[in-house]
Amino acid sequence: MKTVALIVAAGKGERTGGALPKQFAPLAGKPMLAWSYAALSAHPAIDDVVVVIGAEHEQLFRKALPGARAVVGGATRRASVANGLAAAGAADAVLIHDAARPFPTVAVLDRLVAALNTADGAVPVLPVTDTLVAADGTNVPRDGLSRVQTPQAFQLDMVRRAHAAWSGEEPTDDAQMVRALGGSVALVQGDPMLEKVTWPGDFAAAEARLGWETRTATGYDVHRLEDGEELWLGGVLIPHAQGLSGHSDADVALHALTDAVLGTIADGDIGSHFPPSDPQWRGAESGQFLRHAAELVTAKGGEITFVDLTIICEAPKIGPHREAIRARIAELLRLSTDRISVKATTTERLGFTGRGEGIATQAAATIRLPMAQL
Ligand code: MG
Repeated sequence: MKTVALIVAAGKGERTGGALPKQFAPLAGKPMLAWSYAALSAHPAIDDVVVVIGAEHEQLFRKALPGARAVVGGATRRASVANGLAAAGAADAVLIHDAARPFPTVAVLDRLVAALNTADGAVPVLPVTDTLVAADGTNVPRDGLSRVQTPQAFQLDMVRRAHAAWSGEEPTDDAQMVRALGGSVALVQGDPMLEKVTWPGDFAAAEARLGWETRTATGYDVHRLEDGEELWLGGVLIPHAQGLSGHSDADVALHALTDAVLGTIADGDIGSHFPPSDPQWRGAESGQFLRHAAELVTAKGGEITFVDLTIICEAPKIGPHREAIRARIAELLRLSTDRISVKATTTERLGFTGRGEGIATQAAATIRLPMAQL
C-alpha cells in the first residue's frame, strides 16, 4: 500500500502578526512547516510528502525545505487540497495535514493508518473539556462532541471523488466531503501535540509542548607558542612577542569552545569537521568553525544558552582583553555577553604553560535542545 502525505501550507497566516507567513515563521529554531514535514517524512508508513504552498511563497519554501516537493495551492483550502490530491499521483491512501499543526506524533499517524484498514477515512479527535456556550448565553451540551485535528487519512480514490463531487459551501475539513459522499470516517484518538498554532502566543506554547533538555559539554585545546606568529585568542588579535602555531589561525580558545559546542550535540570534534590535513584551513579564521558548530545546534532546533572559557597561560595577561573576547564570541554565537564567561589562570610556572611553551584552554558550552520525540 502506497501512502502519500499532503501538507497544506498555502495560507497567508496573517493572524500570527509576524513578518513571515506563520508556516515559515521560526518555531524552536526552524520554520514551523519543517517540523511536520520531518515527522511525516520519517514515518515508515508514509512513502512521499507533498507540500501545497502559495505561489508567492516559492522562495520561502525552497529556503525552508530544500529539495522537498511542492505544488502551488488555490484560492481556498479546498482548492489547495484538490491541487495536492492531483499531484499525489498513483497511491492508495493520503494523509492531509495542515502546516499550522507542527507536531504529528508517531502514535497518531499509526492510529490513522491502521483505521484505513476498515474505513474510508479517519480523523484524530480530542474530547471537548471546556463548557460551551452559544452567543445568546445558553449552554451547549458538550456530550458526544469532539475537536477534530489533522492529519486526516483517506483512501485516495475516495477523497478525490469527494472533492470532485462537492458543490456545497466551503467545507471546514476533508472528512466532511467524504461523509457527504457516503464514506465512513473513523474517529481515532488525537494528541495535544497537534494543537493548532494560530495566534502569536501559540508559538511559545508549541515550543513548550516539545519538551526541552539541557546539555553541557566540554572542550580542551593546546597550541604551541612560537616566534613570528600572530596571537589570536577568542577571535581577538592580541599584541604579544610570540603567537600560536598550528591548525588554522591556532586560536586555542575558539577551538576549545568549538569542541564544547560540538560536544553538546555529540557531533564529533573540530578535527572531524575541519581536518588539519585539509590545506583550505591553513591560516583560516577560527570564528567560522565556531559559527558552523553553532549552526549545527540551530539546525537541531537547539539554542546555546551559556559558554565558559578558561584560558591557561603565564602571558599575555588576559584581563585587559576579556571584554573584547566576550564581545567577539557574542557576535559569533549571536548570544548576549552576559551568557559568555571568559576566565584566565596560570599554572604557577609549572608545566608547558608555566614555561611559556604554549597556551591551553578549557571550555564548556550549555545548550537547550527540543526533545522532539514525536
Ligand atoms: Mg586547536
